[in-house]
Amino acid sequence: MIKVKNISKSYKDAVVLNNVSLEINKGDFTAVMGPSGSGKSTLLYSISSMDNPDEGEVVFEGIDVYKLSESELSKFRLNKMGFVFQNSQLLKNLSIFDNIILPGMVAKRESIEVVRARATELMSKMGIEDIKDRDIREVSGGQLQRAAICRAMINSPEILFMDEPTGALNSEAASQVMEILKKLNQEGISIMLVTHDAKMALMAKKVIYIKDGKLAGEIKLSNEKEALAEIDLWLKTI
Ligand code: ATP
Ligand code: MG
Repeated sequence: MIKVKNISKSYKDAVVLNNVSLEINKGDFTAVMGPSGSGKSTLLYSISSMDNPDEGEVVFEGIDVYKLSESELSKFRLNKMGFVFQNSQLLKNLSIFDNIILPGMVAKRESIEVVRARATELMSKMGIEDIKDRDIREVSGGQLQRAAICRAMINSPEILFMDEPTGALNSEAASQVMEILKKLNQEGISIMLVTHDAKMALMAKKVIYIKDGKLAGEIKLSNEKEALAEIDLWLKTI
């Protein structure tokens, strides 16, 4: 689905991404781990066409995304990708429901009725239908992140990109969010998630490890015990 070819990025003299190549296939659930400052967010933003690398290509279903014009790229992003960040970044002056439907209104691909119906369905799937009319200051962190997932899903994207979506949550709320992600992935959406938490990473299907801007390791999570041991080993090398 997405082919990342030899991407590199530097800020002044500091090389933040160093010749990273990887592939994301349909249905993948990839966790990205690595030390603070290793380039995880930069990698995620580069792959998700939010921040272009200095070198290399990101090819999404045959389209070299950084060759698109800015308006083509934002349309492409709006229709194909969903984003969730550590702090939900929902808008303060809109209700939870209006925040969720907003990207659907901007995309103008479907009628408002269809978008509203999908928002209602998503909220009920995430167990937050009862907070629909609330202001974002009146809900818990876990509810806010679930709302952010609904917003990311409103245009039925093919992939969700997430930068530490459970980083600000307690472990119970974080597990709830991870369970939801697992379910969404089983229904067919691809997910790429940055996390510091090995327990969260284990819920993915594959973990990649970034160190000093390089792809330093990759494990498939078929055997949980082995995977945990390997992640432990990585964490010890930090
Ligand atoms: P964390 O786990 O703390 O979120 P990370 O692995 O996500 O870290 P990045 O945010 O990708 O790390 O940053 C990688 C390196 O690039 C860091 O050294 C950071 O200081 C630097 N960096 C990131 N963005 C910029 C920027 N806009 N200007 C200058 N340097 C930057
Ligand atoms: Mg980061």
